[in-house]
Amino acid sequence: MPVFCHRCGTGLPSTARFCSNCGTVVTVQPPVARPLVRPHFGRQIAGVCIGLAQAYGWDVALVRILAVIGFFFSGGMVAVAYLACWIGIPEEPYNVPGVYPPNQA
Ligand SMILES: [Zn+2]
Repeated sequence: MPVFCHRCGTGLPSTARFCSNCGTVVTVQPPVARPLVRPHFGRQIAGVCIGLAQAYGWDVALVRILAVIGFFFSGGMVAVAYLACWIGIPEEPYNVPGVYPPNQA
């Protein structure tokens, strides 16, 4: 699981403790610590799939495939669930991209 520098956004190996680009200390956050939100970045429709994937550590491609299959074969159950998630899951607040929670400066 790659990590990203929260100052310059450089992708780093998960074992990195310091950013190789700017030297910032990299705080590794476990994926389960990410709250369930709908990110602005990477969303296709409402960000429900990528939000669920990021919150639970799932593969977003797999979530999307299952969602699309579900749309057609679940008799509307997945469509209803998707809408419920769209309404029920809050939008990710605007802050520094790729960082959650935002740094309290
Ligand atoms: Zn950096």
